[in-house]
Amino acid sequence: MAHMPTYGFSCTGCGPFEVRCAMAESDDPRRCPRCAGPARRRFGAPGLRTLAPGMRRALDAQERTADRPDVVTSIPQKTSKTRITRDPRHLRLPRP
Ligand SMILES: [Zn+2]
Repeated sequence: MAHMPTYGFSCTGCGPFEVRCAMAESDDPRRCPRCAGPARRRFGAPGLRTLAPGMRRALDAQERTADRPDVVTSIPQKTSKTRITRDPRHLRLPRP
């Protein structure tokens, strides 16, 4: 069987638990294994830490652009800017 990543979920009644499943199923609704109640997807601290600086940079870039818009010279930078993702799930995708 292929390697399956572990995804963290959290039950409001029982607390966090982990599920091993394929990435394609990681966003599926899960039930708590103990009380069978609805569980929410939980993101680990490392993902949140790496997300914050990225958002900070994006906000700074927006402010700089508003300050002195350099429409002509910033075209190459804008193409690279669109590659920044703010979705924490993307940080868990395997690198090629
Ligand atoms: Zn539960």
